[in-house]
Amino acid sequence: MRLPRILNQCHPIPGFVYGQARFTEDSQAILIAVRPRKGSSAICSGCQKPAPGYDQSPTPRRFEFIGFWGYLVFLVYCMRRVNCKQCGVVVEQVPWGIGKHTSTKVHMHFLGHWARKLSWKETAEEFWNIASWGRFAPLASTRFSMAEGTNI
Ligand SMILES: [Zn+2]
Repeated sequence: MRLPRILNQCHPIPGFVYGQARFTEDSQAILIAVRPRKGSSAICSGCQKPAPGYDQSPTPRRFEFIGFWGYLVFLVYCMRRVNCKQCGVVVEQVPWGIGKHTSTKVHMHFLGHWARKLSWKETAEEFWNIASWGRFAPLASTRFSMAEGTNI
């Protein structure tokens, strides 16, 4: 069974399809391409309503997904812009992400779940990649020190 088929079963994304999965050049992460399903319209990030497409970025963005088998996993997607009658030309809203965050919602929920059971530091060491930890370390460190090493 191929990885996109497993993801469609476990984590379907309405209006989008999973494409090929591949390793990064250093074999440290798995990249899973995502593309819009044919005929599906994009959602305006301003008003959260469907809007006609305007263009699509040629540069893919990576969204961290829940890692598995010891690999970091990222969804890779080229964001579209929409030409919304109400909001103008704005980037689309994707169902797996929030604004400019680089983690998927499911990854944030996963980390939040474990952060309730472990300390933030332990959660970061177990599940976050170095880049993610660097961005969230100030917040996590504050919360960790406030709790003086106890689970929060
Ligand atoms: Zn809009």
